[in-house]
Amino acid sequence: MDILVIGGGGREHAICWSLSKSPKADKIYCAPGNAGIAEVAECVPIGVFEFDKLATFAKEKEVGLVVVGPDDPLAAGIVDVLEGEGLKVFGPRKNAAEIEGSKAFMKDLLHKYNIPTAAYRKFSDHAEALTYLREQPLPIVIKADGLAAGKGVTVAYSREEAEQALEDMMVSRIFGESGSQVVIEEFLAGQEMSILAFVDGETVRPMPAAQDHKPVFDGDKGPNTGGMGTYSPLPHIDDSIIREAVEKIIVPTAKAMVSEGRPFRGVLFAGLMISPDGTPKTVEFNARFGDPETQVVLPRLKSDLLEIFLAAVEGRLESLDIQWTDEAAVCVVLASEGYPGSYPKGVPIAGLDEGGREGLIFHAGTAFGPDGGIVTSGGRVLGVVGLGAGIAEAREAAYAKANRISFDGKQNRTDIAAKALLRQ
Ligand code: AMP
Repeated sequence: MDILVIGGGGREHAICWSLSKSPKADKIYCAPGNAGIAEVAECVPIGVFEFDKLATFAKEKEVGLVVVGPDDPLAAGIVDVLEGEGLKVFGPRKNAAEIEGSKAFMKDLLHKYNIPTAAYRKFSDHAEALTYLREQPLPIVIKADGLAAGKGVTVAYSREEAEQALEDMMVSRIFGESGSQVVIEEFLAGQEMSILAFVDGETVRPMPAAQDHKPVFDGDKGPNTGGMGTYSPLPHIDDSIIREAVEKIIVPTAKAMVSEGRPFRGVLFAGLMISPDGTPKTVEFNARFGDPETQVVLPRLKSDLLEIFLAAVEGRLESLDIQWTDEAAVCVVLASEGYPGSYPKGVPIAGLDEGGREGLIFHAGTAFGPDGGIVTSGGRVLGVVGLGAGIAEAREAAYAKANRISFDGKQNRTDIAAKALLRQ
């Protein structure tokens, strides 16, 4: 079967790489892809919002499955368009992707079905929001309703910061229409954990848990990014907590979506906070694979990813036995100088092929330079994954590989997964 993967980041590289191991996968296309994806798929220069062109291409090539990576095209209804053209698509339809596309929708859904999450209020009027905000204890969390490239959340520790965030979102509209509604939410203290799950409507098949590192600098300092590194599994978090999160949060949410007439098919990604007493609560839901969570989860998959995608699309997940390795995986993101602010592009990258088969390199923002060499083309450039018997070994492998790669202005955190070792 030929397959079309839509997207061009580290997540899509991991997806294409995993699909390429399937005996059932013939040709893999990726639109638009990147320089690393080109090693495992044929990159097609079509953008993720060019729905008609993507549909025409997929039909022309008679692909058996389309897989959608990023959130924005999902929220814009890419799955409905491609399905309308008779294509088989792994990913939620627009009405199900709203679980990520609107925080107000997600909070109302969880509230209605009694699924654990932080207390909240939603507002469309700035003055009303401000009055409410002034009555709340600190810290307090302010969220733009719509998608904001991962930047629409402010955890405010002072009144000034809180009021500024509200003004930026609702008055200055720094996130455009995404800030026409905001959610003001109770601050949850604790440890974060991500659980991604394959979902075909009612059936939920969780993947191993992972943990991201959002802030750009060591010690969780500096502004938030798309993610500077991840690891899986989480040896310091009890299996019973992970089970509780699946049983009390992810499964009921999938059922709630079915009850609402919005069955979710695809990857449902729960961002969770584990309170100091060990109770998981929902922070957010995403409607797709996480980036860079995917880069540490898929290398641990023993089963055939293509079989899982097809089973999810066809509503057969319940009959599938999905196997994972016991190995640990650590991903260190190498980013461009200046990221998450502005950064240069076109910087040559060296050391990508140098020795060491102990890990994987997933390209996030790379392209071919004028002389055919690989250059930077994004804020997050590479995700270097180390594998090992435990987190310590995987971490060592990831950093050994990451340190052999160089480009001008390269920055990375040096403490990915360090907390897991300490807590262990
Ligand atoms: P989100 O985009 O909703 O995942 O939020 C981004 C980050 O903000 C999360 O990964 C958390 O670190 C933090 N965050 C969001 N909501 C809360 C909350 N209610 N309490 C504490 N931290 C939060």
